[in-house]
Amino acid sequence: MESERPREPLLSVRELRIAFEGVEAVRGLSFDVRPREVLAIVGESGAGKSLTARALLGMLPRGATTSGTIEPDLAAHRGRRISLVPQDALSALSPVHPVGDQLAAAVRSVARVSRKEARDRAVAALDRVGIPDAARKARAYPHEYSGGMRQRAVIAMATINEPDIVVADEPTTALDEEHRDQVLRVLAEQREAVGAALVLVTHDMDVVRDHADRVLVMYAGRLTELGPADEVLGRPRAPYTAGLLASLPQHASPGRRLPALRGTPPAPGALPPGCAFAPRCPLATDTCRTEEPEPQELQGRLVACHHWPELPHPATELFQEEERQPA
Ligand code: SF4
Repeated sequence: MESERPREPLLSVRELRIAFEGVEAVRGLSFDVRPREVLAIVGESGAGKSLTARALLGMLPRGATTSGTIEPDLAAHRGRRISLVPQDALSALSPVHPVGDQLAAAVRSVARVSRKEARDRAVAALDRVGIPDAARKARAYPHEYSGGMRQRAVIAMATINEPDIVVADEPTTALDEEHRDQVLRVLAEQREAVGAALVLVTHDMDVVRDHADRVLVMYAGRLTELGPADEVLGRPRAPYTAGLLASLPQHASPGRRLPALRGTPPAPGALPPGCAFAPRCPLATDTCRTEEPEPQELQGRLVACHHWPELPHPATELFQEEERQPA
C-alpha cells in the first residue's frame, strides 16, 4: 500500500520551469518521486509532461532553458540510477548491433564484469521480459524483433542495471491494444522486480487507473491536481481532471453522447490570462479569467482551482450537462 512506503522522496522537483526562446512550456512545477511508487504524469498533448520527464533524465531538447531544482541529480547517473523507456523503441536501439550486445554494453557501462557475465545477464534480462528463446534472440538485430518485442527489449535495457527510477514516456503509444497491455504488464513486473520507482507519462486515464499509485495531472505546463490515483480518479477535485475522466467510454450513457472536453489546450506562447483552463471550464468565473490558481493542499493532495469546493460529485456530470446544451 502507498501509505506503508517510506515517505522520504527519491527525487524532489521544485519550481521547475522549462522554456524555449523565452516561452515557458513548463511553468513552476513541484512534485516528489517516492521510492518504489508508480507516479503517472497525465494530461493532453502539450501539457509539458514529456518535457518534465525528460528533465528528470537530463535529456531536454536542444534550446531548452530551465530553472528550479531537481534533487538529487540522478541525471548524472543516467543508465544506472535513472533510465528511460521511450515511446519509440527503435530510436532507443542501435540498428547495427545485436540486441544482446547492446544490453551487455549497458551492463559493462556501469559494472566491471567480464564479457561473458555481461552477455549472460543480457540473456537473462531478455528472458525475464518474456522474449522467447532469449539466448538465440540476443544475437538478433532490432529489425528482426516485432514492435512489442522491441519494446520489451527496451524495458530489459532500462531495468538491467537496477535503477532507482525508470521513466517511461508514453511507452505503448506505438503499439496495438494487445501489445499495449502486455508491455505495461512487463514494465510493471520488471520495475517491481528491481524495486524501482516508475514515472509513467501517459495521456490514457485507463493506464493510470490500472498502474499508478499517485497521479500528477498537468495542464498548460502546470500542476492541476496531484494525489493518490484511486482518490483522484474516484473523486477528482479539479475540473480538468473531471473532464479527462468524463471522456472515458465508461461514462457514456445510453442515448447520450460521450461527454468530452471541448476545445484544445492553449499553445505555450498563447495562454489566456488567469487559469489556462478557463476557456474550456464549465465553472469558470471572472476570478478564474484574471488570477491563475496556485496549488493548495487538500486532504493529502494538491489541487490548483479557485472553485474546487463547487465541483459536483460525480464531477463528470459537469461535462455531461455541458454536452447537452448548445454552445
Ligand atoms: S480555476 Fe476556474 S477555470 Fe480554472 S479549473 Fe478552476 S473553476 Fe475552472
